[in-house]
Amino acid sequence: MGFTVYNTLTRRKELFKPLKDNTAGIYTCGPTVYLFAHIGNMRTYIFEDGLVRALKFFGYSVKRVMNITDVGHLVSDSDEGEDKMEVGARREGKSAWDIAKFYTEAFFKDYKALNCLMPDVLCPATEYIREMIELVLALEKKGFTYRTGDGVYFDTARLPDYGKLAGKSHMEGIQEGARVEVNAEKRNPHDFALWKFSPAGEKRQMEWPSPWGTGFPGWHIECSAMAMKHLGGTIDIHCGGEDHVAIHHTNEIAQSEAATGKPFANYWMHGRFLVTGDTGKMSKSAGGFLTVSTLPEKGYDPLAYRYYCFLTHYRKQLEFTWEGLEAAARGLDGLRGLAEKLRTEVTGEPPAADRDAKYFKDFKEALADDVNLPEALAGLWETLKNFSIPAPQRLAFALAAEEVLALGLFSAKERQELPAELAALIKEREAARKAKDFKRSDELRKALAGKGVLIEDVPGGTRWKLSRG
Ligand code: AMP
Ligand code: ZN
Repeated sequence: MGFTVYNTLTRRKELFKPLKDNTAGIYTCGPTVYLFAHIGNMRTYIFEDGLVRALKFFGYSVKRVMNITDVGHLVSDSDEGEDKMEVGARREGKSAWDIAKFYTEAFFKDYKALNCLMPDVLCPATEYIREMIELVLALEKKGFTYRTGDGVYFDTARLPDYGKLAGKSHMEGIQEGARVEVNAEKRNPHDFALWKFSPAGEKRQMEWPSPWGTGFPGWHIECSAMAMKHLGGTIDIHCGGEDHVAIHHTNEIAQSEAATGKPFANYWMHGRFLVTGDTGKMSKSAGGFLTVSTLPEKGYDPLAYRYYCFLTHYRKQLEFTWEGLEAAARGLDGLRGLAEKLRTEVTGEPPAADRDAKYFKDFKEALADDVNLPEALAGLWETLKNFSIPAPQRLAFALAAEEVLALGLFSAKERQELPAELAALIKEREAARKAKDFKRSDELRKALAGKGVLIEDVPGGTRWKLSRG
């Protein structure tokens, strides 16, 4: 069975053919570490984790590289305004370096809570300045650059297929929008900075010497230099969120292909956004966003959010609602219940999964169909509930599926089991509620909260969660 993915570049689903045997080299754009990542950002990383795990399930040996943007991402994606890192530093009265360290750690705490596998290579942009300068030199040598008063720019007019990722009409739309640009020295509104100079008479916190003057790299050059360093001139798959198509990835392609004369990536995969009803797309700059770390405070296991993301295909927009998350949390509880029951039912080691069984093939087929996790998940549900399949086989399948889904299907028990004393308090509170003794039920709620157990009344009963993740 071949593995197919939707390629933004060709606008169709294609059979995945790696450059080398059964290896898959994947580059995923990482976080800009000037602020906490929100659950929207995390939707993109959950999609990428699903892709990596699905490829592994198919026997590919995956090398995944992720950058950390710790310099050069300006407030406007088109090279204008301040560096986001310096904005963060000023906001918190810390150095840009401290800001980067703090938010990188915060990011990976959330990332791990979502059961996302750590990348094989993690590269902070500030550690690859030499490679970036070399890439700009190569472009300069080939005549793709020009200088302005504030930096070295890529001359997009020199590249006939510039903008191929986003498509012509899309690029024209951006061109219209870009007319109001402030940088009059640019030859073309699409041109972008490869290297920016530190402002005259000002010492930036993050700056380096270069053949053109002291300054810092453009955001796009970071990814090209690090991707090529770790994965070679052409990589198998490059991923990111949908916002990267028109500018960031378009420019990564332009500068990489201009430098090497080779395709930069064979497959481009983009996840659609998580949006909210009131503010539209969830974004760091708009503020008021939710982070993974706040989910346990609200009574939710971060993996319920992972499950929530898997209910919608990554190429469809997902609207976040609390009702949706609640439904996902219940769904996950249900699935864990089935998995746990099988675990107790089946004595001894489970057998190997039956790879010829229809449900197993269907599961694989769903993964191979552009990582269709909603369908894979639905298949798992159906199979676990199908009592005509022997319990050991169902257990074996659940264990195999967990390798891809990583929903904590078998670690729920420890999490869910409460000390008898607390369980008794919950029971007592339920009885008080039934008897409409709301004063007593409220007291018990508070007592439980004091012991780290959050109670929530939902239609048909009571749900509880530990307040500490
Ligand atoms: P950033 O830290 O802003 O560079 O973004 C990190 C990743 O999150 C990128 O791949 C973005 O495309 C992605 N992203 C940003 N906002 C959202 C959103 N609302 N939903 C899904 N992905 C997003
Ligand atoms: Zn990138």
